[in-house]
Amino acid sequence: MTVKRILILGGTTESRQLAAALAARPGLAVVLSLAGRTESPAAQGVPTRSGGFGGARGLARHLTEHEFDLLIDATHPYAARISANAAEAARLAGVPILALRRPGWEQAPGDRWTLVDDVAGAVQALGTAPRNVFLSLGRQEAGAFAAAPQHHYLIRSVDPVEPPLAVPHAQYILARGPFREDDERALLTEHHIDAVVSKDSGGAATYGKIAAARALGIAVVMIRRPALPKVPSAAGVDELVAMAAHLTGPVAERGV
Ligand code: NAP
Repeated sequence: MTVKRILILGGTTESRQLAAALAARPGLAVVLSLAGRTESPAAQGVPTRSGGFGGARGLARHLTEHEFDLLIDATHPYAARISANAAEAARLAGVPILALRRPGWEQAPGDRWTLVDDVAGAVQALGTAPRNVFLSLGRQEAGAFAAAPQHHYLIRSVDPVEPPLAVPHAQYILARGPFREDDERALLTEHHIDAVVSKDSGGAATYGKIAAARALGIAVVMIRRPALPKVPSAAGVDELVAMAAHLTGPVAERGV
């Protein structure tokens, strides 16, 4: 039986679920690729590789050298560079590509969102008067808030923010989602938070803080998603598994 090889660009919970679902199918060999920035990534359950490829050309070379038959972009919606590289690499290597594009959140009655284009816009949107701000953006972006040292910050991240934010008032929490709405509500209340800064990550795992902010009447500064390349995509894991199975199907079915 010829085995079809799939490279999944991951780093999200869905990418892990997708990898497990595809690896369980006969005739498919899956490798999950991580950026390598999280110090102790969650166990992935399938073969993994870690670290950048060296741009689109490096990724194209990797696809060719390791004889991948399909590339799947299942990275975070804000990981725009790797998504652009993936589309370009697939074109260069002549390998089909699929993407998992998790839908963003919809505003609901009671939400108090201010939409901004990027992290610098979020810093601006907080205004000049001191506020108690909850940041759970990912540690790479926290540094930008040093430009607004008048606020008190509560910063949650998977890995420590290093160096710490250069502001007089910052508290840190290390935690990995998913986060429940009840717990988020308790956290926001305990720290007297009056502004939440968030990416529009979509999905359930980090929605708790958005629902909690709505329930408590707290303002949310929401950073819009970056533009991503248009490639064949699915909104959920099951749909993407079906698409991948269709693309690799005849071989997989012969092996059953
Ligand atoms: P990025 O800015 O799109 O990627 C930067 C570089 O990292 C890429 O050019 C690539 O390096 C490497 N890279 C990224 N993902 C990779 C993967 N799965 N396998 C191998 N190499 C990978 O993405 P990012 O720096 O990961 O994240 C950007 C934003 O998304 C941040 O705000 C971050 O907090 C958020 N985020 C991302 C993820 C994720 O799944 N990556 C998860 C949670 C949050 P080369 O060009 O050298 O190949």
